[in-house]
Amino acid sequence: MSAPAIERLTQIIARLPGLGPRSARRIVLRLLSDREHRLVPLIAALKDAAEQVRACSTCFTLDTSDPCTICADASREPMICVVESVADLWALERAGIYRGRYHVLGGLLSPITGRGPETLRIAPLLARLDDRVREIILALPSTVEGQASAHYLMDRLKTTGIRVTQLAQGVPVGGAIEILDDGTLALALAARRDA
Ligand code: ZN
Repeated sequence: MSAPAIERLTQIIARLPGLGPRSARRIVLRLLSDREHRLVPLIAALKDAAEQVRACSTCFTLDTSDPCTICADASREPMICVVESVADLWALERAGIYRGRYHVLGGLLSPITGRGPETLRIAPLLARLDDRVREIILALPSTVEGQASAHYLMDRLKTTGIRVTQLAQGVPVGGAIEILDDGTLALALAARRDA
């Protein structure tokens, strides 16, 4: 039995992705036993992030400015890469293979859970499109949900006359974009095909 404050912290950490009760207990113990070097800087970093980081109102990535650094960068090419999540955007940026703009959908359509198009940021994507946009790249996972979302978007984008492409089939079946290595991601982007 640990103190309620420790128990509460452990429960919050255990809910983070990739962690469970066991790893949460280890993290809490490490934080509490090295207050000055681990706990205090973590609290400061969390506070800064909570106060400063917002979703960009154009592309919905997370940044400390709105419009975000990418949207505000005039040298970015006039193409929009549509991704499921900020994690996927980060993966593409990290790989350094793409110099266009992004749009974070905030999820995928799911015939199974009944998640519909109104829950995704599709209307803000359509509102962004003007004659300057040269291409829309659908960088969605090759899962059932990813492909259902891609097909829905292709349908909605058809009338815009803008070129729509999809990542090449280098993306493994069921593969999430964010876990791809940079080389595979670069190939999938370079060999993208018209949707
Ligand atoms: Zn942005």
